[in-house]
Amino acid sequence: MKHPNLDLEPRSVAVVLGTRPEIIKLAHLVRLLGPAARVVHTGQHYDVGLSDSFFATFGITQPDVYLGVGGETRGVQIGSAVSALDSYFADRPGRAVVVQGDTNATLAGALAANAREIPLAHVEAGLRSRDRRMPEEHNRVLTDHLADLCFAPTSVAEANLLGEGIDAERITVTGNTVVEAVLGILPGPDRRAELVARYGVERNGFVLSTFHRPENVDDPERFALVLKQLAALPLPVLLPIHPRSRARAAAFGLTDQLARLRVVDPIGYEDFLGLSAESAYLVSDSGGVQEEASIYKRPVVVVRRSTERPEVLGTFARLTEPDGILAVVEEWLADVDAVHAQLADLPSPYGDGRASERSVRVLAERIFGG
Ligand code: UDP
Repeated sequence: MKHPNLDLEPRSVAVVLGTRPEIIKLAHLVRLLGPAARVVHTGQHYDVGLSDSFFATFGITQPDVYLGVGGETRGVQIGSAVSALDSYFADRPGRAVVVQGDTNATLAGALAANAREIPLAHVEAGLRSRDRRMPEEHNRVLTDHLADLCFAPTSVAEANLLGEGIDAERITVTGNTVVEAVLGILPGPDRRAELVARYGVERNGFVLSTFHRPENVDDPERFALVLKQLAALPLPVLLPIHPRSRARAAAFGLTDQLARLRVVDPIGYEDFLGLSAESAYLVSDSGGVQEEASIYKRPVVVVRRSTERPEVLGTFARLTEPDGILAVVEEWLADVDAVHAQLADLPSPYGDGRASERSVRVLAERIFGG
């Protein structure tokens, strides 16, 4: 990837993040900012498997500071992170704050920047599910309205922002930074062959699944239904389990249901992408997985009440409630090879892998006048 050849002040851009998807989607931007970047980790996901290894995978420096505000209720998490960030920015305000996505860390970064009057850029702006039951939807709306620069991944996201009265001059359509993350990390055929062997599965002969959203794993009946439907699929199911989901399964007495699947700990990003690209299909409630699937060209059954990623619906993704997983698979994926062949030539709606580069350029021009 081309370096934009910036000459920004060292450590002048605070990149605030707190979870695995934020690291994935901000890594290239951090790299392009070079010495101008300063990573601030709120600690929302403090598990080593969900955080530390991701910095190593992308070869970016470990965070300047960990604020350690993980594991609380949402209100306490946001409040503590804003308070900790406010103290941090009081000493080191810098020239700009960058946040990504829709997490509590995203919103806390945005509020703290606003309170210190530091210009704010939001990467992956303008996604909308219109589902007000989801905390992520509120985090997105609030962050976009606070942001001075909204980096929208697609024209759908841009239209959402314009529809809410956000000035066109605050918005740039950049593509989604996940594209460069996947293109830079996806392992080649040899490594992928080694991976499927290591996990005891066969190329195009297994399902890769992830579940972590409260709507699925916080409700015992819904979570039990998800696990039951996964166990009934015609292929073996590999389930790298999020710590949150493992804890819920234990609390709800669902350990026996888990035993019917191939449950493993969360997998490092490179291996996870390699396995995804070798799978027959994915069944997931992850936002990032839907986008990634459009890059390595695999179908995803999305188990959610709503989606903020309509760009992939009807092509790479189908949306269903937990009780419909099996029916969607039977209807859509009975001939998996044919679906793979159809998807192989479809371009990803998320862009060309230069979203980070465009975002850094706009940031340099608009905030630093470069
Ligand atoms: N992921 C990973 N290892 C795993 C499961 C997921 O690297 O064991 C990656 C996945 O490729 C995606 C991201 O983590 O990029 C998704 O994270 P999560 O589902 O926590 O968040 P969401 O995408 O829903 O915001």
